[in-house]
Amino acid sequence: MERFTKYKTMVFPREVIVGHNTTDQIKGLCNRLTISTNVLIVVDKTTKKISGDRIAKILSGSGYEVNMITLSSPIIKRDIPIAWPSTKEVTAVIKAAKKHNSDFLIGVGGGSVIDVTKLAAYDLSKSFVSVPTSAAHDGMASPRASLKNKKGSISKTANSPVAVLADTAIISKAPYRMLASGCADVISNISAVKDWELAHRLKDEEFSTFAASLSETSSKLLLDQGEDIRTGLEEAVWQAVKCMITSGVAMSVAGNTRPASGAEHMFSHMLDRISPGKALHGEQCGVGAIMMMYLHGEDWEEIQDFLRTIGAPTNAKELGIPKKNIVEALLHAQEIRPERYTILGEQGLTKDAAKKLAKITHVI
Ligand SMILES: [Zn+2]
Repeated sequence: MERFTKYKTMVFPREVIVGHNTTDQIKGLCNRLTISTNVLIVVDKTTKKISGDRIAKILSGSGYEVNMITLSSPIIKRDIPIAWPSTKEVTAVIKAAKKHNSDFLIGVGGGSVIDVTKLAAYDLSKSFVSVPTSAAHDGMASPRASLKNKKGSISKTANSPVAVLADTAIISKAPYRMLASGCADVISNISAVKDWELAHRLKDEEFSTFAASLSETSSKLLLDQGEDIRTGLEEAVWQAVKCMITSGVAMSVAGNTRPASGAEHMFSHMLDRISPGKALHGEQCGVGAIMMMYLHGEDWEEIQDFLRTIGAPTNAKELGIPKKNIVEALLHAQEIRPERYTILGEQGLTKDAAKKLAKITHVI
């Protein structure tokens, strides 16, 4: 009989607090984590005012040594901060943490502040607490982060947060477009899992039924709630954030981003190179998911309907991206991660196929 030699490491957040006015629970949360009383809070100018200062005040008043680093504010386009963390910002946080001997980090902000904190904490081998002030993608609880480089954006390994504190009252005040983008990111799990199954069948890639089910559950729950995802509704944030956290947990179970990132993510990353700063990550992934679901022969119209219902983009025009760039991104998407097998195959699509795909799904 063959000996069983498999093993796996899974790192999860220890505590997740989601709901109305939960910011004040930061003290109890940090006390229970019992890491240390020396903390570095990472914010940007906006999130400092929204939540960072309040958290600093609560912790300073509770015997914590609190230091804060304010990152440069992201560029605002159509009311939305469009930004990825850069190596420079991550280095600045690492330097600050070393200078103050900080034992753990708290990232207070949107996706890019959380990603900077996540990457710095990983480099420092320290724990970090994720305090999202908006929910534009599923990174608030995931072990991966996006980092900007000369070519666009790349996905990097990091650790999951040791805890997540999501205040729905605060997140519901962020522009609705961000929440819709976060929901679109979660919905794209459906096509990501299809790609993963395909890679498992064709390339014998390791597949986790557990991780795939969790990921699908998070997107399918959301799919049923499209009507309830709308602007000004704190309950919508509550439902969506829970799904985003589950999606992050699915990645922790898999030990990679497979449950939440397939060809639709490659398409989005390629758009970041071709049409940088036009649309949000999740918005691009949603449109990508429509097209990849069509290629998989699955119900792509269901995805399109959902995105329309929640007010997320479903085509080039709504993304604010020229049609030819959509085709270009489809053509080159597979080059983002050639080792990750998806429905785009090893060679990617031909120009005719890419055009046809985008037209048939009404993306162009
Ligand atoms: Zn994503």
